[in-house]
Amino acid sequence: MTNEVNPFESLQEQIDDAAAFLDARPDEIERLKYPERVLETNLTVELDDGSTEVFRAYRSQFNGDRGPYKGGIRYHPGVDSAEVKALSGWMVYKCAAVGIPYGGGKGGIAVNPNDLSESELERLTRAFATELRPFIGADRDIPAPDVNTGQREMNWIKDTYETLENTTEPGVITGKAIESGGSAGRVEATGRSVMLVSREAFDYLGWDISEATVAIQGYGNAGSVAAALLDDLGANIVAVSDSSGAIHNPDGMDASAVKDHKLETGTVSGYEEATESMTNEDLLTMDVDLLVPAALENAIDERLAREVSADIIVEAANGPLTPNADEVLADSDVHVFPDILANAGGVTVSYFEWVQNRQRFHWTEQRVNDELERIITEAFEDLVDVYESADVPNFRTAMYVVAIRRVLQSARESGVWA
Ligand code: GLU
Repeated sequence: MTNEVNPFESLQEQIDDAAAFLDARPDEIERLKYPERVLETNLTVELDDGSTEVFRAYRSQFNGDRGPYKGGIRYHPGVDSAEVKALSGWMVYKCAAVGIPYGGGKGGIAVNPNDLSESELERLTRAFATELRPFIGADRDIPAPDVNTGQREMNWIKDTYETLENTTEPGVITGKAIESGGSAGRVEATGRSVMLVSREAFDYLGWDISEATVAIQGYGNAGSVAAALLDDLGANIVAVSDSSGAIHNPDGMDASAVKDHKLETGTVSGYEEATESMTNEDLLTMDVDLLVPAALENAIDERLAREVSADIIVEAANGPLTPNADEVLADSDVHVFPDILANAGGVTVSYFEWVQNRQRFHWTEQRVNDELERIITEAFEDLVDVYESADVPNFRTAMYVVAIRRVLQSARESGVWA
């Protein structure tokens, strides 16, 4: 993991890489590389002991050509303006890659949520919702969960917004609990698209996923669900990790039992069926068929990329590979299936949640999963079409070509005002 690579610059490099294969003017590309606006604010929160603390918070609205800004809210000490801008840009191209009618946004608070009590977290979240209120709305900007946030935080934001606006508007935010207007299948959606893209990738390459060995870096919502669903396909989950380190068993581990262990103890370490513990770096360089980075940005940099022995990487995290790592991996024929497709299940089911909220109608989990599968497999076909017809260096550039074309098309149809 490296802190030297600025994720916002990585995003811009990825856009430039794809622009070389697009028929677009430089000025058209230029505006796709910068956010339309970024809110940067202080949140002053009263702690349980009566003292107050100030937290930095952000919301970047990157591009709204294809619809309302859409993207999660992250609670992490590493949140800063560059990270939020990058993540909001990746949302633009993710929504375009899977063809859902949104632009991209992202927000975050620089905080370690483990340092706060539940009531402190609630005050922090409601303070952020109050600052966000003029910027968000079901037709304007729709937040969702991201790293260290979930249903609880989404419900607080919805409640704060609705109270201040004196209305009911569940579509202002997605990732809510079911009884507060959430969708069946939303919690599993990111992991489910990682599974679907892995399945399609193996199929496309003519390999058998039920024979595959898999290593997963990060065992949060995306990583643990992806592990369980890949396990269901017959793949062998031989190593998993979280911030405490990695565990390994060459014969495979029961993904759900590892999750139960993590829920009980707070970490994957110490899981009794593991034969060995190792570092995250050891896991990322293991000789497996499928490697799933499911933690944070920049997990694999140029140096580590030289050591990667996996055949396929499917990105569950946003931005886990640096652009230099991408080049090294393309040279060594490691097939990388990009985040903007692989983890798009989350925002796709957020879209279903928003549709259900607007219709005041509830879909079954089966319907959600069927529609998700259709959207992800169609996007995979679009990716393959470009990969086979344009002389692109890798699957990431192919997916960006698909996505940027869609954003450009919409911008061109809108024209320039004044
Ligand atoms: N935070 C998720 C992502 O990075 C989900 C965003 C959403 O549902 O709007 O894609």
